[in-house]
Amino acid sequence: ESQLNPNYNFDNFLEGDSNRLARSAGMAVANKPGGTSFNPLLIFGGVGLGKTHLAHAIGVEIKDKHPDKTVLYISAEKFTQQYIESVKKNTRNDFIHFYQLIDVLIIDDVQFFSGKSGTQDVFFHIFNHLHQNGKQVILTSDKAPVDMQDIEQRLLSRFKWGLSAELQNPDYETRISILNNKLYRDGVEMPEEIIEYVAQNIKTNVRELEGAVISLIAQSSFNKKEVTLDLAKQIVEKFVKNTKREVSIDYIQKVISDYFQMDVETLQSKTRKRHIVQARQLAMFFAKKYTKASLASIGSQIGKRDHATVLHACKTVDNLGETDKQFKKYIEDLTKKFAQ
Ligand code: ADP
Ligand code: MG
Repeated sequence: ESQLNPNYNFDNFLEGDSNRLARSAGMAVANKPGGTSFNPLLIFGGVGLGKTHLAHAIGVEIKDKHPDKTVLYISAEKFTQQYIESVKKNTRNDFIHFYQLIDVLIIDDVQFFSGKSGTQDVFFHIFNHLHQNGKQVILTSDKAPVDMQDIEQRLLSRFKWGLSAELQNPDYETRISILNNKLYRDGVEMPEEIIEYVAQNIKTNVRELEGAVISLIAQSSFNKKEVTLDLAKQIVEKFVKNTKREVSIDYIQKVISDYFQMDVETLQSKTRKRHIVQARQLAMFFAKKYTKASLASIGSQIGKRDHATVLHACKTVDNLGETDKQFKKYIEDLTKKFAQ
């Protein structure tokens, strides 16, 4: 069982500037699995930009062109569960052996391996075996290898062996064609101004783009509502509001240094000047609040501090927020900026 979803194929993966490199590399790999220098092929990009779709499309295409090859699609999460299970049942070797026999291994969302050293170790061995034997490995991740955290160096270096291709935010033209394609497949017509409105306002996530058009279709066909610009506005608003943009540690440092009118290097510097220390502590506090990063990783990204410093910073911010009016204002202002 390849676990491939035939609905995710190349035909319905629309091409645009934002995905051309990844799509073409995927095509090349599908033509000659294991026979290109794109091994591994790592596709990375933000949420809802088509990583899973493209990963399946490559697998489906390989099955079509090379029916003799064994292809397996698996999420990194499921791979991890299977591995843990195998350790419990004392079948770790069988687990490894099973994966070493596959011709094309597709692992989705490898950022999930972060901090899981056992799984990384076992994947390292499987990867080496496959690679040495000319088998194809395809990976997806929400980050480029250079930005991945808590992944062993030797594995990261393997990730960089082949090609890392980014899926970027789709440009306006591509957003329009994705919407039109969806409407066409569902046999629904919609006024052009509505389609343009949706494409103008949902820019960073194809899943949301599709979600908005599905809501519009549902409203018009089930609720018999006329699809007006007003209705489109309401629906788009729901999508844009409900999805908090992911706040990164870099972004937090940028916003806070702008707010205090200093640059990021100053914020990260070793100085003990009070206002700089406070800016840095606020950055650590918000990084803990808004990202999933560990204290250690927050510390290393904000001026190479250790986890105890970050912990101390978070406590200090909590305290000052209660006792110091000016400081409370900082927290409120910054919270507004990040919550937008
Ligand atoms: P990710 O894995 O990056 O979070 P998905 O692959 O799940 O994103 O894609 C989200 C949705 O957007 C899916 O329904 C997918 O079919 C659609 N999609 C993404 N990119 C494209 C594209 N270029 N053409 C058509 N549909 C796309
Ligand atoms: Mg996905």
